[in-house]
Amino acid sequence: MSDVEEIKAKIDLVDFIGKYVPLKKAGTNYKGLCPFHVEKSPSFMVSPDKQIWHCFGCSRGGDVLKFVMEKEGLSFPEALQLLADMTGTTLSKVATGGIDKRKNLLSINELAAKYYEKVLEASAEGRKAQDYLVDRGLKIETIKEFRIGCAPTNGRAVLEFLQKRGIGAPEMEAAGLVVMKGRYPKDKFFGRVMFPICDSQGRVVAFTGRVLDDKGIPKYLNSPETPIFKKGEILYGLHLAKESMQKLGYAVLVEGQMDVISSHQAGVKNVVAASGTATTEAQIQMLRRYADKLVLALDADNAGVEATKRIFEIASRFDMDIKVALLGDAKDPDSLIKAGGNWQEVLDKAVPMMEYYFSVAIDKFDTKELDGRKALTKELLAVIAEVNDPVEKDHYLKKLSSLVGVEVRALYDAVAKPLIKKPFAGDKKEDKGGDKVSPGWLEERIMALGLFRPELLELIVPKAKTLKWASGLANTIYEAVVSCYTSPDLFNLEQVMNKLPDYEKTAVLELLLVVEESYQDATTNELAHEVQLYLGMLLARSVASKRQELVLAIAEAEKANDRDRLNQLMNQLSELN
Ligand SMILES: [Zn+2]
Repeated sequence: MSDVEEIKAKIDLVDFIGKYVPLKKAGTNYKGLCPFHVEKSPSFMVSPDKQIWHCFGCSRGGDVLKFVMEKEGLSFPEALQLLADMTGTTLSKVATGGIDKRKNLLSINELAAKYYEKVLEASAEGRKAQDYLVDRGLKIETIKEFRIGCAPTNGRAVLEFLQKRGIGAPEMEAAGLVVMKGRYPKDKFFGRVMFPICDSQGRVVAFTGRVLDDKGIPKYLNSPETPIFKKGEILYGLHLAKESMQKLGYAVLVEGQMDVISSHQAGVKNVVAASGTATTEAQIQMLRRYADKLVLALDADNAGVEATKRIFEIASRFDMDIKVALLGDAKDPDSLIKAGGNWQEVLDKAVPMMEYYFSVAIDKFDTKELDGRKALTKELLAVIAEVNDPVEKDHYLKKLSSLVGVEVRALYDAVAKPLIKKPFAGDKKEDKGGDKVSPGWLEERIMALGLFRPELLELIVPKAKTLKWASGLANTIYEAVVSCYTSPDLFNLEQVMNKLPDYEKTAVLELLLVVEESYQDATTNELAHEVQLYLGMLLARSVASKRQELVLAIAEAEKANDRDRLNQLMNQLSELN
């Protein structure tokens, strides 16, 4: 048995997924609300006998490994390792190859995090760091929850601590904890409050160190990028926020780590930060796994406004519903909370992006002055021009009109001319759900229907022989079927499954789950119709492409003045028609 099979055999998928999503029995399968897209009625299915899941809403699906990969944002080897740990399975060397090094770096960072925590808790220097944090309004529980620690001023503290545990300087350097000064290793972080940065699993992958007094330079020092820490792929606080994001259906993105920490302390837990970097597409994509609504609450300065616009564009590409929290006079969420503001209420009152543009422009320009009104009009018209929805556009033009005292008619004329032309979010949805009925899709459906109702194979097998397969998967199923198929009565699904290569089994089971759910009440006659329809569509496609090939070849032959070939091709073409 392979590692994967061994692990799968130890897990019951219904129980496993049931811990993430409430599941209800529906026929032979279980049904629930999809954890990967937001929906009101359940289209997420789990099959206990196939040990396969599939969502009919977002088309995600697979086995337990795929579920863990999607849910926790892990690579295949990481998901395998996680499940191996859970089930007490020892992985063979082949499977672990790439992750040993990562595991080692993770355990070094974990040791260091524990050490920094200990220093904060139980040393004179740590006391100073604690005082600083308490001064900034943090409670001891919060400090513990975020595992905040302290790096002593002695520049060899972590080095010596880790050395005693048998870790060499090169490994510490690889983990980003130690730097080489000439030939001598030295702590990277010293005399700093240490904030561990964790991955979505809560494993420490890096640190941010902040100076205690504001004299030190730089104020914030981050771990370098390592094999386990890619700045643009980590969201600070995600491991503590993901559950709440899923529950509430929206995520809050803030700028600083302190904003995340204060927010948690104030009981608002669905908050993360892209600390130390501009928010990347990868980070938004990660958030999208947990919620499809996003509230932006970046700092209320120019950089924050620019970042808000940029993230809006990125998140729109992922079809997220985006709002912006207006912080009033506070410069960031942390100071809003410290000043006693009602943070949850601020989030509840978050406004659509266009309202945010208005509020920023009103702050920026003096509408009492003509010049101010002109500048404000110009700036807002540029963004209103990009609104596609006519009702929405009308609404904002009226709003602008009353703000600057210019007739709506004149503003309409202004937006009729293209002020700026750039691709804008909102036009990018065309490929969503687009051409689902590709030849590959048709072939897979046909073969899956054959497995589901073997009577159909009499119809499918002879026709499928002539197919030029577009889907490797469908072709594999076909080969497996014909290798053991004699008649529908003697058809044995297990026999066919055994002929399939391991890596295709999951995909075939998922296909089966899909057709079973889609066609459970259909009669064999109705299904035969469906298969005929699909085969017809495939045939039409192949005729069309054959015709195109011939037309091209005819043109070639004409050019080359090749009479014989031309005649031959013309004959073939007339046979097609
Ligand atoms: Zn889904």
